[in-house]
Amino acid sequence: MSVALQNAEILLVDDELANLILLQKILNAAGYTRIRSTTEPRRVLSLLEEWEPDIILLDLQMPHLDGFAVMEQLKEKLPADTFLPILVLTADAMPRTKLRALSGGAHDFLTKPFDPAEVVQRIGNLLRTRQLHQEVQEQNKNLEQLVAKRTGELEKALRELKETQQKAIQQERLHAFGTMASGVTHDFNNALSVILGFSEVALMECEGALRRDEIEAHLRTIITAGLDATRLVTRLREFYRPNDENEPRMVVHLNELIKQAVATTRPRWHAESSGSEVPIEVETDFAMIPPISADASELRDALMNLIFNAVDAMPQGGKITLRTSYAGGRIVLQVRDTGVGMPEEVRLRCLEPFFTTKGEAGTGLGLAMVYGIIERHGGTLEIESAPGRGTTFTISFGPAVDAEDHIIAESPKPVSPLRVLVADDQRELCEVMTSYLASDCHAVTSVTDGRAALEAMRGANFDLLITDQLMPGMSGKQLAAAVKQDSPETRVILLTGVAENENPSSNGAINRVLAKPVSLIDLRHAIVEVMAGPPSE
Ligand code: ADP
Ligand code: MG
Repeated sequence: MSVALQNAEILLVDDELANLILLQKILNAAGYTRIRSTTEPRRVLSLLEEWEPDIILLDLQMPHLDGFAVMEQLKEKLPADTFLPILVLTADAMPRTKLRALSGGAHDFLTKPFDPAEVVQRIGNLLRTRQLHQEVQEQNKNLEQLVAKRTGELEKALRELKETQQKAIQQERLHAFGTMASGVTHDFNNALSVILGFSEVALMECEGALRRDEIEAHLRTIITAGLDATRLVTRLREFYRPNDENEPRMVVHLNELIKQAVATTRPRWHAESSGSEVPIEVETDFAMIPPISADASELRDALMNLIFNAVDAMPQGGKITLRTSYAGGRIVLQVRDTGVGMPEEVRLRCLEPFFTTKGEAGTGLGLAMVYGIIERHGGTLEIESAPGRGTTFTISFGPAVDAEDHIIAESPKPVSPLRVLVADDQRELCEVMTSYLASDCHAVTSVTDGRAALEAMRGANFDLLITDQLMPGMSGKQLAAAVKQDSPETRVILLTGVAENENPSSNGAINRVLAKPVSLIDLRHAIVEVMAGPPSE
């Protein structure tokens, strides 16, 4: 017998003193020494107040309080999770009695007269069960404590993680704000220093010898700087502009738009056109996709920006792939390049306005704008990139809407393709115009000053001249007048910027004035109008 069992404390309850003495002897002989006994069942409860036995041997037939009543009292007194074995002693071996005792709380029986070996065996069994029960309880308690401790640790770690994350996010925001503030400051200061510097010079010129042409040149530079600053603000607004429900949307065929963007950007990637030796291949892979409701010129701008970035990322040449697909009601566009790729810290920040790794050559506004445009179209943008492994931009657009219901019809298209000459000293504006016009199948030539425009006019017959008003050397109005002299049939659309308060209707050479910035829809309407109207007012 194990030491633990020998140490067990045993309570004997029997009104017959002889029985108690007999049991005590049997138990002593078996090695049990910690035994208490009573002939008074009514004392059991008070005994248990100060001491808890490991087992109770309980007689059933007793005066005042029988074994059943004692078990009843014990049931009420003992906590539900204690296992205190009760071994019932009875002279009544009737099955009915046994059943009643069992349902009343007894765990086992001994029938009088006792067989000593059986007494010891049954007590041992019950004590072992109690021991196991206590061990399990102990383990449960340990486990609970362990779980509580671990939970506490986890909660603490989680709290710390949250705090760290919060700090990181805050830092990230501050960082983005800082980048942005320094970008705005830098670009604005550039514009302001030009404006202030040239204003002062112009003022000095005014006080000295009045050299009109020089003052005019300075003013022009000032206006250009002002326009640069205005453009910067416009682009920023583009980025932060929220989605406007009333924004005009057209039925746009993304595949077509991609073709246009590829064609328009060709001068930048095509080896011969760009004058570089580096071969860049552009491949398109189109799936059958439904049209989407979108602002075509915005999307085209976004695509062009992605292509420009891809070209920048491939100084050694490479391949750009534009792929569309359609799955689960979403239209997916992937722009992939085989360029230098981005390290993780660049990938995470590349959408921030003014974030650029290109130094003075970059504005850091391209991807910010792309992101803004995609957001406004309810799309998502994902970027996959690793150094040396190229970059993939994945753009996904929501379900294509029913064309009739939600979309404003596309603006009218001119009946036939025209030969158009675009004159604007800002190369980007030329590019935008060219892309608009090319998307409507017009043949476009662009030049950046009036003299080049006149030169071009001499070589070819243009149906339409679209010219900026403010250009170095020759104004749009002067150019228009000169053009009309040689070619009275050519229609002229004059573009005016914010700083120009001309009244061009006074000039018969101009068929139409458009304020910058010009949207594709405005441009189409204007073209339809001037081509249908008389060549001069
Ligand atoms: P910018 O081109 O003027 O630098 P963008 O907003 O277009 O500004 O791009 C931000 C930065 O993201 C770039 O300077 C470049 O580091 C990174 N980037 C964008 N596109 C790519 C690309 N296709 N491959 C590698 N890096 C890219
Ligand atoms: Mg860019």
